[in-house]
Amino acid sequence: MKVGVLAFQGAVREHMNMLKRAGAEPVAVKREKELYEVDALILPGGESTVIGKFLRETELGRIIIERAKSGMPVWGTCAGMILLAKRIVNENYVHLGLMDIWVRRNAYGSQLDSFIVRRPVLAVSPKPLELVFIRAPYAEKASPGVEVLLELDGKIVAARQNNLLATAFHPEVTDDPSFHKFFLEMVSSDCE
Ligand code: GLN
Repeated sequence: MKVGVLAFQGAVREHMNMLKRAGAEPVAVKREKELYEVDALILPGGESTVIGKFLRETELGRIIIERAKSGMPVWGTCAGMILLAKRIVNENYVHLGLMDIWVRRNAYGSQLDSFIVRRPVLAVSPKPLELVFIRAPYAEKASPGVEVLLELDGKIVAARQNNLLATAFHPEVTDDPSFHKFFLEMVSSDCE
C-alpha cells in the first residue's frame, strides 16, 4: 500500500519513517504525478498558512479535494487538521474545507504552546498514547457525522469522518506507530 506524505513543508520524514514501521510504502508527494499514485495521503504538521498557499498555487489542492471526495483516505496532523477543516473559527479563510469540524488555530496560546500528555485513545489502542501538541489547534465542535476519537478538557483533539482523520497532536514524533497502523486499517477497509 502506497501512502503519500505531502512533502512541501513540516514533519515529512517522521511520517515516512512511521509509515514504513507500520508496514506501508511511503511516498513524498510534491507533484501531481505522485499524488495520483498513492492510495492515501497524510497532511503533516508545519505551518498551515504556508502549506495552504502551496496547495492553492499548484494543482495539488484541487486534486486532493477531488480524490478525498471520491474516498481517498486523508489524515491531517496539527497544521494538517487545520487544512482539512471546513471552518477555522479565528481566521476568515479556509483551505481544503473537507471535514465538518470547526477548528481554532494556535488554540493553546503561548503558555501551553507545546506540551505532552498520555491518554488512551480507545479506537486506536488500549494503552495510553503519548500525545505531543506543538502550537496545536483543537476543534470546538463537529457535525454529527464526525466520530470524536478523543477530547482533552472538552475540546476535540482527534476525530474521524468516513475517510478523513484529524489529530491536533503529532503521533509521528513519538515512538509508537499505533496511529499510523490505525490509518492504514482505514485505508485497507473501504472507508467511504
Ligand atoms: N500553529 C501551526 C498552524 O497554525 C500548526 C503547528 C503544527 O503543525 N505543529 O498552522
